[in-house]
Amino acid sequence: MFLRFGTAKINLCTDTVFNRCPACEVDREVDILVSSTYFHIWYIPIFATEKEVTLICNSCGLKRIDLPFSDKYVRNYDEIKQFYKHPLYLYTGAIIILCAILLLILAIIK
Ligand SMILES: [Zn+2]
Repeated sequence: MFLRFGTAKINLCTDTVFNRCPACEVDREVDILVSSTYFHIWYIPIFATEKEVTLICNSCGLKRIDLPFSDKYVRNYDEIKQFYKHPLYLYTGAIIILCAILLLILAIIK
């Protein structure tokens, strides 16, 4: 059987935050784009794996792509992380598999 799987990425949200720009070497308004990476089988999302950010300085235009979404790169990470959750549908496959296992268990113990 031909199994098609891998990871894919969707964009969650964009915002503007104050963050340090390594080129300007001061705090600047920075456009932030957060994306979710997920594992899929036949393009059905199974589970989300990680979040990444792209940061674009509004002053000098420095663009840093696909950094890990963490407090290392985003200064107010602890404040904003709650607004960037993986969408529930990225766990569709995991939920289906879990339901299938539950149904199987129910069928066995009947
Ligand atoms: Zn800059």
